[in-house]
Amino acid sequence: MNRGLVERWVSAPVRRLEAYHVADAGGLVKLDAMENPYTWPAPLVGEWFERLRHVSINRYPSPGAEELKRGLRRYAGMAEEAPVLLGNGSDELIQIVAMAVSGPGRTILAPEPTFVMYRMVAEVLGFRFVGVPLRAEDFSIDADAVCGAIAEHQPAVVFLACPNNPTGNLFDRPAVERILAAAPGLVVIDEAYYPFAGETWLHDLYRHENMVVMQTLSKAGLAGLRVGMLFGPAEWLEEFDKVRLPYNINVLSQASVSFILEHADLLREQTAQIRADREALYQRLRELPGTEAWPSRANFLLFRTARRARSVFDGLREQGVLIKLLDGAHPLLRECLRVTVGTPGENDRFISALRRVLDTL
Ligand SMILES: *Cc1c(COP(=O)(O)O)cnc(C)c1O
Repeated sequence: MNRGLVERWVSAPVRRLEAYHVADAGGLVKLDAMENPYTWPAPLVGEWFERLRHVSINRYPSPGAEELKRGLRRYAGMAEEAPVLLGNGSDELIQIVAMAVSGPGRTILAPEPTFVMYRMVAEVLGFRFVGVPLRAEDFSIDADAVCGAIAEHQPAVVFLACPNNPTGNLFDRPAVERILAAAPGLVVIDEAYYPFAGETWLHDLYRHENMVVMQTLSKAGLAGLRVGMLFGPAEWLEEFDKVRLPYNINVLSQASVSFILEHADLLREQTAQIRADREALYQRLRELPGTEAWPSRANFLLFRTARRARSVFDGLREQGVLIKLLDGAHPLLRECLRVTVGTPGENDRFISALRRVLDTL
């Protein structure tokens, strides 16, 4: 194959990109991707299959997904007529928002380290991406630094993950208010971990004409169905909706999510369990000699080891446990790793494997 042909036509930002790497988890305890480890009781699975029996997969999905939207508004505690845009995961919503405001010389800004998709989408679409470092001690947001960068770069969009991935903390509300006031463009509050934080900006939505709030069902237990939602003023959402491909939420996802939202208490019970287990896991991580862990409002914990994080990661994998290595992803994440909260049994396996690995290194 002649690479010259590809290099001539594939855009420079895409060629510079490293493909988003998803580790193979075959046979491992999978604690790398913030998934909910729990499944549904068998009778509920039976009811769900029964519902799917009536789905017409030969037909295109409902383009407006109105039934699903009604369920999602109710689930999120929003008014019946609240404007909402659905994405194939919130990843797609990030892309839709960026596409809608793209143009020569435009900038996207976010504090860093944060969710890598903001930078990736920005670079692919030809934006300049400005990352403003969080504070090294506790990953809190430095509002002065962010507002200074906003004044300098005039970003079209600021992304704020609340709680932030991979650091797990919620940004201070007054700091976010200052950023909302300083931003000349749109501020996207990404609440992917809302089920574990319990704090939301949804109630403040229409107080700020430049704010939209994004949530997802992925971390609550439906990662495989790929449904994310964006709430905000109709004026923004109507424009974003023009960019959305018409059938972005497939029929199986529409029917399945509508079904499970009728049993939303199950998701709430599962996430409450995960929140309680997160606190237990945090205490155990803190007590391990040579590890530093940060408190989390999400369903994962960030920690640093006195040993090489890479060796800890490899050692854990040999012991059958897959977590996420973050060393190298950002200077503030030196020797850091991120573990998703699993079932109590999985958390036990992780802690024993980690003890063994740290003892042998
Ligand atoms: C996981 C994650 C997302 C993406 O979620 P999907 O809805 O599964 O695409 C978005 N934002 C943050 C901060 C995340 O951690």
